[in-house]
Amino acid sequence: MQKLTDQYGREVNYLRLSVTDKCNLSCFYCRSDPGKCGIEPVEGALKVKDYLKIGRIAAELGIQRIRLTGGEPLLHPDILKIVNGLANLEGVKDLSLTTNGILLEEMAPRLAKAGLNRVNISLDSLDESNFRQITNGGKLASTLKGIDCSLDEGLKPVKINVVLLKGINEHEIERFVRLTLCRELDVRFIEYMPVGGQHSNWAKYFLSLDKVLEIARTIAPLSVVEGNHGGGPARYCRLEGAVGKIGLISPLSRHFCDRCNRLRVTADGKIKPCLFSDQELDLRPYLDQPAQLKEVFLEALKQKPDPKNSAGNSLERMKQFKGKRPMINIGG
Ligand code: SAM
Repeated sequence: MQKLTDQYGREVNYLRLSVTDKCNLSCFYCRSDPGKCGIEPVEGALKVKDYLKIGRIAAELGIQRIRLTGGEPLLHPDILKIVNGLANLEGVKDLSLTTNGILLEEMAPRLAKAGLNRVNISLDSLDESNFRQITNGGKLASTLKGIDCSLDEGLKPVKINVVLLKGINEHEIERFVRLTLCRELDVRFIEYMPVGGQHSNWAKYFLSLDKVLEIARTIAPLSVVEGNHGGGPARYCRLEGAVGKIGLISPLSRHFCDRCNRLRVTADGKIKPCLFSDQELDLRPYLDQPAQLKEVFLEALKQKPDPKNSAGNSLERMKQFKGKRPMINIGG
């Protein structure tokens, strides 16, 4: 198996592939323009065969793990074809999908059958009315059913992603942490990032994850779970006797640029070397030219920033980053 290593020695084996920038929720911190929520096709959107071409080239170069995202990936009318095509590519060892879970009750069995390995489910509140407010009208019960169905279908480990937001869901930390006591879930808290158009919100709602550890320790003794956990950015710990784990993803307070192992492709076919940069390369002109498509991937790899530069001032760099695309248009 070929390895894809950048000039700073980081092995890049993970691709985030966005299949739409439309969503059926409208979380206030994720998008810059709530009015644009809808399910119409994205301008310049790739076709199923294009996603598969990109996946094949990526796998040939050494990408072993692919995560489908969006927007809400389950809104893509051909998501099962995309899953099935990618799952069958040689070299792809792990195919996962990030979703808000709203459509999972219906889709989990079909996704599992199509070859999906696991899901990450975004869930920022366990309180019905708070969930509705954060998501601009979403139904908590749908996401909770989606979680149950994913477990039933073996789409494991099921990871729950909670973006911690000061004054919005910090009072729910204990409830989220307690979920790990009796359920087979990895509950991962994520620091809110100042991505595209989120600067005033960010200053208002950012909260470091230290608060999570503080609260977890009041519930039961906490131990670190060692391991590289698939090379991802999360650190894990476990409450004594708990079935599930608590994950901490701190791109700001404890950056992980030196371990960055990923490239991202947007739903309109742009490859992004770094989340905190507007730099992107267009894959679309080369979709029918495999050799050139590979070259663009390698160029994107070359353009991944030096972790020494980004690491030294990661917080300042992110605060000053005025990226144009909000998370929903990148693929979180
Ligand atoms: N619709 C899917 C979902 O809800 O998981 C996939 C797309 S969504 C953009 C992916 C993840 O990005 C979600 O967990 C969301 O909470 C997170 N996200 C969006 N904006 C963010 C931000 N500014 N900082 C941190 N996480 C963010």
